[in-house]
Amino acid sequence: MKLTIRNLQKTYPNGVQALKGINLIIETGMFGLLGPNGAGKSSLMRTIATLQEADAGSIFLDELDVLKDKAEVRKILGYLPQEFGVYPKISSELMLDHIAQLKGILNANERKQTVAALLDRVNLYNDRKKHLGTFSGGMKQRFGIAQALLANPKLIIVDEPTAGLDPAERNRFYNLLSELGENTIVILSTHIVEDVRTLCSDFAIICKGEVLRNGNPDEAVKEL
Ligand code: ADP
Ligand code: ADP
Repeated sequence: MKLTIRNLQKTYPNGVQALKGINLIIETGMFGLLGPNGAGKSSLMRTIATLQEADAGSIFLDELDVLKDKAEVRKILGYLPQEFGVYPKISSELMLDHIAQLKGILNANERKQTVAALLDRVNLYNDRKKHLGTFSGGMKQRFGIAQALLANPKLIIVDEPTAGLDPAERNRFYNLLSELGENTIVILSTHIVEDVRTLCSDFAIICKGEVLRNGNPDEAVKEL
């Protein structure tokens, strides 16, 4: 799979030029997006996730026109925003069951199996009866991944996921993402250069709405 971004531009109504003609090709695997605060990372990710419009340019996922066929994109997208709310008084198991029902898995046994497998995959099976409000930051993030995975996504976008996670939780979360990256495009934005180097086969640095650098992180580090 290949995500091709051409000349993507976005200016907000307040005049801030957040994306000044972004060109990137992102292939299956883990792609790291680095850049300081205000660089345009979230703007780029929200645009790929069909949550906001671009002013110019194009995004294609193979043949799929991402900026046009939004409904199609949403079927194959997993998006984990920087902070997402959870309903505090419901168990992870029941929440996923509800979402599965909304997604059209109508058979209760099938849902039960699907939900159990997902919770197991993100290491939350033993916590399946606990209310989401009692979850730690890392548990919530892993729950977010389980929720995203319900859709069998081909494209997963994760916006600065590890802020506030302790190192053990961070490792657990990243191991999970790495597994996903084996057959999915995973775009990860982060401030942590070392994380990109260990996890990502490909990366870009964005600054002031422009791509400063794009390529293989190990090679980039060698040149420094
Ligand atoms: P990053 O995710 O790298 O921190 P953002 O994409 O959030 O960068 O922001 C890029 C620039 O666009 C910043 O100057 C930010 O203040 C501005 N910006 C982001 N979202 C909006 C918005 N909805 N309205 C106006 N300006 C915005
Ligand atoms: P990030 O750096 O991850 O984008 P922000 O705090 O910049 O996080 O953005 C949080 C929310 O505020 C987003 O929905 C973004 O669109 C909005 N936002 C960011 N900057 C501005 C701005 N200058 N004017 C209006 N909205 C903004």
